[in-house]
Amino acid sequence: MVHAIERAMHDDIESVNWMTPATKEQAMVKLKGIEDKIGYPSHWRDYSSVKVTRDNYLGNVEQASSFELERWVAKIGKPVDRSEWTMTPPTINAYYDPQLNTINFPAGILQPPFFEKTMDDSVNYGAIGMVIGHELTHGFDDQGRKFDAHGNLRDWWTAEDAKQYDERGKCISDEYTQEVPDAGPGVKQNGLLTQGEDTADNGGIHLALFALEAELKKQGKSLDDKGPDGWTYRQRFFLSNAYSWCANIRPEVARLIVTTDPHSMPIFRIDDVVSNMSEFAQAFGCKAGQKMVRANACRVW
Ligand SMILES: [Zn+2]
Repeated sequence: MVHAIERAMHDDIESVNWMTPATKEQAMVKLKGIEDKIGYPSHWRDYSSVKVTRDNYLGNVEQASSFELERWVAKIGKPVDRSEWTMTPPTINAYYDPQLNTINFPAGILQPPFFEKTMDDSVNYGAIGMVIGHELTHGFDDQGRKFDAHGNLRDWWTAEDAKQYDERGKCISDEYTQEVPDAGPGVKQNGLLTQGEDTADNGGIHLALFALEAELKKQGKSLDDKGPDGWTYRQRFFLSNAYSWCANIRPEVARLIVTTDPHSMPIFRIDDVVSNMSEFAQAFGCKAGQKMVRANACRVW
């Protein structure tokens, strides 16, 4: 799935009409340079020097903190270790690391509702596929695009392409600068704070859907064929995507998220994304002017 989604990103970069060949070439170098890390690290960190005892909580915290400090200090002057993970294997999350140019999917997220090997491709691409596309897109969001294939802060964009990018990014940040009544009266999201994550959500789902379409084609199927339960694969993809972001949040936490979290609230990670997509309107027969069809649809990746 990771390879299929990377291929979709390759084709997407190749086909966009707002980037010059010079910047596309650089983007391809960066894409090829991304390392995929899945499940758990190739070597385990040795914690044997950390002495943990049953009767000294403060001492244990001090032991762990000083181990961690020394581990970081010991990196000075050493080569970069791209194999290092900053999440543990059971973590239900994933990340892109701009300074290592790696995408990382701990074992914890490779289970339902994100991944289930007994389900068909449409379900898995809608859930973990979107997450894979999301992390990949981070390499090319408003922050990630400023790093090169080796993780160095280096501007590889022509001035004109950077301007084109910013215009597309502004569409996203304008869309997400929105009132959030669930978080209380007058609470408003800052679309600039969440621009990177929102760009990754929008790009991620496109890449996952393109990859699914290509996979189905190999199996002699199309997105509009019916799956096992009577929904089309296109519908199953979007249903699975929405299901994977189901959440229940108190107004107090909603307020905290809206004011401090660079991620949008789960409801917007679905509704704001799919209302940008003609593919979603096609899946469920939404017409222009209806709530889930944005007149000013945004698209970066
Ligand atoms: Zn993200």
